[in-house]
Amino acid sequence: MNVADSQRLASSLEKLGYAHSEIIEEADVIVLNTCMVRQSAEDKALGRLSSLKPVKTKNPDIILGLMGCMVGYKDNEEIRKKLPYVDVFAPPSDPKPIIDYILAKEYIGDRADEALSAAPSVWDPASLTLPKNDRNRAVSAFVPIVYGCSHACAYCIIPYKRGRERSRDPQEIIAHIESLASQGISEVTLLGQIVDRYGLDNPEYPTLAGLLRRIHAIEGIRRIRFLTSHPNWMTDELLETVRDLPKVMRHIEVPAQSGNDAVLKAMRRGYTDRAYRDLIARIRETIPGVSIGTDIIVGFPGETEAQFEDTANQLRDLKLDVVHLARYSPRTGTLSERTMTDDVSEAEKWRRFRIIEALQEKIAADHHAKRLGETIEVLFEEKKRGRWVGRSENMDLVYVESDENLTGRYLPVKIEWTGPWTMIGTIADGLGE
Ligand code: SAH
Repeated sequence: MNVADSQRLASSLEKLGYAHSEIIEEADVIVLNTCMVRQSAEDKALGRLSSLKPVKTKNPDIILGLMGCMVGYKDNEEIRKKLPYVDVFAPPSDPKPIIDYILAKEYIGDRADEALSAAPSVWDPASLTLPKNDRNRAVSAFVPIVYGCSHACAYCIIPYKRGRERSRDPQEIIAHIESLASQGISEVTLLGQIVDRYGLDNPEYPTLAGLLRRIHAIEGIRRIRFLTSHPNWMTDELLETVRDLPKVMRHIEVPAQSGNDAVLKAMRRGYTDRAYRDLIARIRETIPGVSIGTDIIVGFPGETEAQFEDTANQLRDLKLDVVHLARYSPRTGTLSERTMTDDVSEAEKWRRFRIIEALQEKIAADHHAKRLGETIEVLFEEKKRGRWVGRSENMDLVYVESDENLTGRYLPVKIEWTGPWTMIGTIADGLGE
C-alpha cells in the first residue's frame, strides 16, 4: 500500500513538472513515506528522518514532507511539534496536502494559471500515471481499492493510522486501470487491508468478484491479483470468480496469524483454526493449482509453547506456499498494547520465528521441486545480477539468462533448477510473445 501511495505522490509531482532525482541533496522536494506496523519499520523511518534533518538545515529551500502512518489520518499536533523542520504532513493514501503546499509556495503570480491548469489532472484517476523513475513501470502496478480498515485486530495499528474502511468508487478504479493499461501496464494488484470486503461499505458498489469481472474486461490487462484477504470474507462467489476468470491469477493471500484458538480470540481475528483449515480446503478444491500465502505472528502476548506449536502444526499440515512472518511488536494505542503484557522474550520470539522459517523453507522447497521440468509462463520484470527475473502466476520468482530485454514480456520458461525461494529455467522456444 505504501508503494502505491508513494507512486501516486510521485505521479502527482511529475504532473507539476518535477522529475525524479537520484541524489537526495539535489532534490527540491523530499517526502518520506512511513510505516508503523512494527517497531522496526518505525525505527527505520525515524532514522531516515534524522538523516534528512541536516539536508534541510543546510538548504532551507528544500520542501521536506512526511507522509503515511507516522502522520496518521487525524491531524497530529504532536508530530508537528516534534518535527518543526518538516514543512508539510500528509496522511496515508492522500498526497493532497503536499501538492497544495507546493502549489501555494511555488506557483505564485504568473504561474498561478499554470498551477490551476495542472491541478485537475493531478487528481483525475484516469490520468494517474506511473512515475517515470519506477523501474517496473512497464510491467506491474498496485491499485488501492479499499482504503483504511475497520476491523481492529488487537495487535494492529493500521486502523488507527489509516482510518475507517472506505471502498474506492468502481468507476474510478476502472478509469485508473484503463489509464495504466494505456501506459503499457499489463499486471495489476488490487490492494486493501481486507480486500475481500470491497464494496460491502456501499450498497451501490459491486463485490470484489463483480469488480474483478469488470477489470477482467479491460483490454491490455493480462494478470490481476488482489491482497490481502481476511478468512471471514472469502465467499464462494469470489473463489469461483478466481477460478473462472483466466486473467485472475490463482494466488490468494489469506493470513492465519496463529493456529491456536485462544490466541486467535485474543487477537480478535474472528475465526478458529478449524475454520481456517476448512477455508484452505475450500480454496484448493475450488481453484485447482492455486498458491496460498499467509501471515503469521509469533510471540503474541501470552502465547505459550503449546500454542505456538499449534501454529507450527497448522502450517505443517496445510503446507502453504508463502509465509510472511513477524515477531509480535507492541504498537502504542492498540488493544494488545494497552491490555496485555508483551511477555514472550525477544530470544523466544526469535526461536519461534526460526522454527517457522525453517519449516517454511522445507515446504517451499518441496512445492518448487514439483515444478522441475515443467514449462510455466513468466512475466519478466527486471535484470538482477546478470539474470532476468519475473513471476509465475503463483508468484514464484523465476530467473533466466538472456541477452534480450525481457522487461514486460510473458514467456514460457522450462524450469531446470528449484530452491526454496527461487527457480531457474530457460526460455522455451516458439511459444512466447
Ligand atoms: N490488513 C492486512 C495486512 C496488515 S499488516 C492483514 O490483516 O493481513 C501485515 C502483517 O503485519 C499482518 O498480517 C500481521 O501479520 C503483521 N502485523 C501487524 N501488526 C503487527 C504487530 N503489532 N506485530 C507484529 N506483526 C504485526
